[in-house]
Amino acid sequence: MKLITLGTGSPIPDPQRAGPATLVRVAGMDFLFDCGRGVLMRAAAAMSGPAAFHTVFLTHLHSDHVTDFNDVVTMRWAMSPIVNPLRVVGPVGTAAFVERTLAMLEFDIGYRLAHHADLNWEPAIEVIETSGGVVLELEGVRVSAAPTNHRPVEPTVGYRVDFDESSVVIGGDSVPCEGLDQLCLDADIYVQTVIRESLVKSIPVPRLQDILDYHSSTVDAGNTAQRAGVKKLVMTHLVPAPWPGTEGEWIDEAKSVYQGEIVVANDLMEIELP
Ligand SMILES: [Zn+2]
Ligand SMILES: [Zn+2]
Repeated sequence: MKLITLGTGSPIPDPQRAGPATLVRVAGMDFLFDCGRGVLMRAAAAMSGPAAFHTVFLTHLHSDHVTDFNDVVTMRWAMSPIVNPLRVVGPVGTAAFVERTLAMLEFDIGYRLAHHADLNWEPAIEVIETSGGVVLELEGVRVSAAPTNHRPVEPTVGYRVDFDESSVVIGGDSVPCEGLDQLCLDADIYVQTVIRESLVKSIPVPRLQDILDYHSSTVDAGNTAQRAGVKKLVMTHLVPAPWPGTEGEWIDEAKSVYQGEIVVANDLMEIELP
């Protein structure tokens, strides 16, 4: 099993970091978690792409996590020589979101159907909404979901992929909560959105201060990792984007409460699991 951090940025456009998206490659399948800005460019760099995604998992419907979902839908459809339904797993609301995305794409779908004689089907999407429990079991791989806490954004979910003796958790945007503790229990890798509280507090913009109460700080992520006995914490979706050379400061904050290994992710970082 391999983890590839496709996009590690915050909602603010960044030339070095794409929007939140993570790929887990396991048993010959590519699982995509979230579809942030630039996801297909980063997937191409990881030798993956819209036709290769076995399932797309959404942690929640905040725009920074789904902004390029429509690109995934269109490219999977337009590039495929046969009907190739996209499976999407997400929190309650995902079915409505998918339906509205297809409505937004109505003009484009019409143009392409009219233009290409060999393309005579519309994009097919199969949606599974979850509020927790096993969402996929195949080829020895099990993906489970659990509710997370990103309130007032509701509902939100995190995921855990298990294969052989290895496990990866995609926590998404959440403060520490029971769902995260459950998913993270004895996991090999825990991928978590993190903010640096001290830096955010030093920027006097009221709208930015609002993000403090619904994301894990570096220390929160460290606490969750420590409590659950996680082997490695991967910090991603970093807010605000770290200045190059300051990654050690992010690590030190989490290290104050967590004894495992800590990684500050960059785009296209690959971590192989045993
Ligand atoms: Zn969010
Ligand atoms: Zn986010």
